[in-house]
Amino acid sequence: MSDVEKVVVLGSGCAGYTAAIYTARATLSPLLISGTMEGGQLSLTSEIENYPGFPEGLGGMELMDQMKKQAIRFGARFVNDYIKKVDLTKHPFTLWGQENEIKAETLIVCTGASAKKLGIEGEEKFFGRGVSTCATCDGFFYKEKEVVVVGGGDSAMEEGTFLTKFASKVTIIHRRDKLRASKIMQQRAFDNPKVAFQYNSIVLDVLGDEKTGVRGARVKDSKTDEVTEIPCTGLFLAIGHVPNTDIFKGQLGMDENGFIVTDRLQACSVPGVFAGGDVQDHVFKQAITAAGTGCAAAMSAEKFLTKMESEGYPRR
Ligand SMILES: Cc1cc2nc3c(=O)[nH]c(=O)nc-3n(C[C@H](O)[C@H](O)[C@H](O)COP(=O)(O)OP(=O)(O)OC[C@H]3O[C@@H](n4cnc5c(N)ncnc54)[C@H](O)[C@@H]3O)c2cc1C
Repeated sequence: MSDVEKVVVLGSGCAGYTAAIYTARATLSPLLISGTMEGGQLSLTSEIENYPGFPEGLGGMELMDQMKKQAIRFGARFVNDYIKKVDLTKHPFTLWGQENEIKAETLIVCTGASAKKLGIEGEEKFFGRGVSTCATCDGFFYKEKEVVVVGGGDSAMEEGTFLTKFASKVTIIHRRDKLRASKIMQQRAFDNPKVAFQYNSIVLDVLGDEKTGVRGARVKDSKTDEVTEIPCTGLFLAIGHVPNTDIFKGQLGMDENGFIVTDRLQACSVPGVFAGGDVQDHVFKQAITAAGTGCAAAMSAEKFLTKMESEGYPRR
């Protein structure tokens, strides 16, 4: 490691690897810090069918390995560490990991987001095999099947309506007696004959077995305490995402849900810090959009460095 790195990329998902490929090809020899989930969220999924360039689809880990190899080919360096604390108030920036203290002229934040889970047992057991947090990614696997969507906000309405392209029936389970979603999104779901609603209901468990997969959701009516089983082969969680931004609180501009705010160039509120991927995107949350914004962040970091080299760094 150098005394001061030119580019540090945080995160080894699609955004981080793409930022590493671009900055490495720009001969900036980036240092990428992998975090605890090498390969990011895609390492959790067995099959990706919508990443361009792979007409037959490919495994999530396989795609991430290819991206990593591509970054290594151009000179990116990797460190297995998890950053616990950062100081972005002074330039160069300082990052403290479990093992390393790193100084950086520019930082590209690609720490992603994690989908909120219900915390019930069957959820982990069937995650990626019947339980999903992404209708766009997995809806295709439920042609003519019955599915359940958990949630009552805009994303639940959107995911539920989207799933009717494939599923024979979509039941939206919401724990309250009213939806939180905007009126227009609600209406779209109400107008869809394939969508049913179950209010005041709490999902207690995902039912099924290892061999045949998910067969239903056990649900409790919060008013009557009656427990019923809703048949389904897929259960989609649409109860929100939590961006991995705790270490940046108070230092980088964020929206009310903690997503990092970036401008059109992927620049954050502190000059020299850029962000790409799900950490700054609560709308698209796709591998290709993460790669796209990771690329843009890298190109902006490169421009920043070129400018600073001629004008001097904003030492504070
Ligand atoms: C089960 C599942 C299936 C999916 N299927 C598809 C699909 O078929 N098609 C599609 O386009 N999208 C799919 N997605 C969505 C896609 O995975 C995400 O949009 C994409 O991974 C976002 O990439 P990212 O680089 O922004 O973040 P992530 O993939 O979330 O990666 C974040 C990285 O940051 C690291 N990190 C976090 N905090 C720190 C820290 N403090 N220090 C260092 N490192 C840190 C993590 O270890 C991780 O490596 C799926 C998601 C899931 C969960």
